[in-house]
Amino acid sequence: MFHGKGKVVNSTSEIWQLVEARRERFFSLSDQVWDTPELNYGEWRSSAAHAAVLEAEGFRLSRGAGGMPTALIGEAGAGGPVIAILGEYDALPGLSQQAGVARHQPLAPGGAGHGCGHNLLGSGSALAASALKDYLQRHGLAGRVRYYGCPAEEGGSSKGFMVRAGLFDDVDIAISWHPAAFAGVNNAISLACNELNFHFAGRASHAAAAPHLGRSALDAVELMNVGVNYMREHMPSTARIHYAIIDAGGVAPNLVQARAVVRYLVRARDLGTLRGLLWRVEKIAEGAALMTETTMTRQFISGDANLIGNTPLEALMHRHIERLGPPGFDDADRAFAAEIQSTLSEADIRVSFERFGLTPRPGVALCDTIIPPGSGDGTLVGSTDVGTVSWVVPTVQMRGATYAIGTPGHSWQVTAQGKSPAAHKGMEHAAKVMAATALDLILDAGLIEAAKADFRARLGATPFVNPIPDDVEPPLEPAPFAPAE
Ligand SMILES: [Zn+2]
Repeated sequence: MFHGKGKVVNSTSEIWQLVEARRERFFSLSDQVWDTPELNYGEWRSSAAHAAVLEAEGFRLSRGAGGMPTALIGEAGAGGPVIAILGEYDALPGLSQQAGVARHQPLAPGGAGHGCGHNLLGSGSALAASALKDYLQRHGLAGRVRYYGCPAEEGGSSKGFMVRAGLFDDVDIAISWHPAAFAGVNNAISLACNELNFHFAGRASHAAAAPHLGRSALDAVELMNVGVNYMREHMPSTARIHYAIIDAGGVAPNLVQARAVVRYLVRARDLGTLRGLLWRVEKIAEGAALMTETTMTRQFISGDANLIGNTPLEALMHRHIERLGPPGFDDADRAFAAEIQSTLSEADIRVSFERFGLTPRPGVALCDTIIPPGSGDGTLVGSTDVGTVSWVVPTVQMRGATYAIGTPGHSWQVTAQGKSPAAHKGMEHAAKVMAATALDLILDAGLIEAAKADFRARLGATPFVNPIPDDVEPPLEPAPFAPAE
């Protein structure tokens, strides 16, 4: 067996050392990104910070990957297989919060914050890529490592646009991770999704003097929502539909609203089911327009495919997590995590254990165990644009333990823990696992072949249809300052 070889064990400890040797630079990068939280396609400073570090580390850099100014790719090495390590660095609106404080205290009220831990995600992936680059150089090995700096994970689907642009065409394996409460291989469960705006246009009129002359776009939005809500009984139980009225047509009730916009986020277990569901939602929108004598136009925002798992890659990554053990948290880390837990409900904490089939353990604030692959109740967990990559390249992801057990995703508590020593330890831990996994793949072509065979068997004859249509452009944001070349 491959893993019985002494050479592999030595290569693993050597790559761990290479991660340790450069971790401070990447902790700083993570903290710097945390300090400048930027939203979808507005990650100008975060992207520039990554570019600066990658260039200093000796990567060949392509800025503006796929036509997205805040996307970048750093490559090192030559020949051999191509291993992609995926990073993100976008923040979330409304989740500004002081670091290291266990009470809700925004730095900028209403401002953005790293409430999904993408400051750690991007920097941890870059750290893994950099350690692997050094190993390849030191040993003169053929192989290329690529860091993908992917903006706008929170609703912008940049990886889908990168796939469409062919940026993964020559990649053999893709590896990523996400900050979490527990360490383990990520269960490949996520929902395919599409986000669209439905714009309705009617005719304005005085609502009392001439109501018969008006045609209300707001009525159309309401009827569409009613129609979709009736449809819920007749769709797969794993599907999800959410909506937000993003333009109600104004604030005057005595005026018939001539325009209104509702945003829909439709999610389903797989791409085929998603397409069918989306078609039905569009029929309902057309019906609402018909009923109200308004017109309706669709505006596509983004789309992600569901994740495709990969058994050989998950087994390989799990072996590396087991070899490393849980992150080395100390008493101070556990004390701060316990303070964070005191801001959570008992249900938050209990569900966090139960999701992975664990019995809740009161008093345990940080991960001290490794979750075996496939554990848990199969709870669906939203969507990710890594899903789209997983349809074109065998892909594996890790959950890294960076925050207190029970911390809800997308919360001020995630932001509060994003610069903590525990977060840095969890990031280093994930970087070691990703780098060691990638190195094994480069050292043993058989592992890549096994992963590709599993990939082909899972997809079979199912054609990949990118959930982002060909004519849709990324919803880019203008730079708030003149970006450096
Ligand atoms: Zn995230």
